[in-house]
Amino acid sequence: RAARFPARKSLEEFDFTHARGLKRDLIAHLGTLDFIAGKQNVVFLGPPGTGKTHLATGIAIRACQAGHRVQFATAAQWVDRLAEHHAAGRLQDELRRLARYPLLVIDEVGYIPFEHEAANLFFQLVSSRYERASLIVTSNKEFGRWGEVFGDDTVAAAMIDRLVHHADVIALKGDSYRLKNHNLGRIPT
Ligand code: ADP
Ligand code: MG
Repeated sequence: RAARFPARKSLEEFDFTHARGLKRDLIAHLGTLDFIAGKQNVVFLGPPGTGKTHLATGIAIRACQAGHRVQFATAAQWVDRLAEHHAAGRLQDELRRLARYPLLVIDEVGYIPFEHEAANLFFQLVSSRYERASLIVTSNKEFGRWGEVFGDDTVAAAMIDRLVHHADVIALKGDSYRLKNHNLGRIPT
């Protein structure tokens, strides 16, 4: 089954001169996919347009090319899928099935706040993969605001704890690449 990337973006196409402060070596190392062998996670945090989805896609494409099974979806899509399985009484089956994918990408945590039920499903997804298989997660919200996203500080804290215990957390900064030729100067984020 195809990983369904929003757009095909490679690590080679990524312009490090635009992404100030981002260590080229770190991304190159993630591109070796050692983190998948180590069942570790990668989290990209930062404002819109800073390359989070691009980098997540580039790494995930590498993983596909290396023969790993990968699935890519937004947080909202993951929650919809898990809710369907939950309603059908098959949530644990689905989590076990997903555990056979060495890499799942969860894009765009934070744009849409989760209902209580959705937050619990999301927690179960993260928890089911802890020390078993890798996640790449992207978010426009720093961890301090995940309590708002998930409507529950305790659930958010427990999730972040599992997510980052074995992870590279990469904070992207600066202006949106989408606006770089629009001469708007610095836009508020
Ligand atoms: P985010 O997910 O952080 O909102 P994206 O990864 O979708 O941002 O990036 C927005 C657009 O800008 C995409 O077309 C992406 O390929 C491009 N882009 C962002 N940063 C870079 C970069 N440093 N080099 C090349 N393209 C970039
Ligand atoms: Mg994005």
